[in-house]
Amino acid sequence: MSDQSNTKPVSDRVYEKKKRNCLKCREKFVSEWPGERICKTCKSSTAWREGIAA
Ligand SMILES: [Zn+2]
Repeated sequence: MSDQSNTKPVSDRVYEKKKRNCLKCREKFVSEWPGERICKTCKSSTAWREGIAA
């Protein structure tokens, strides 16, 4: 018997961490996923949360 129930598609590709320049502060940072273009410092600090109007 061939049991293939354990064969699940490997969907998580390994994204190679790349160094990019932050769009905000132009500092180099390590992008951990393809869409990340702003360094964590900017993300946490600046008006990155524009949705939340203080
Ligand atoms: Zn930044």
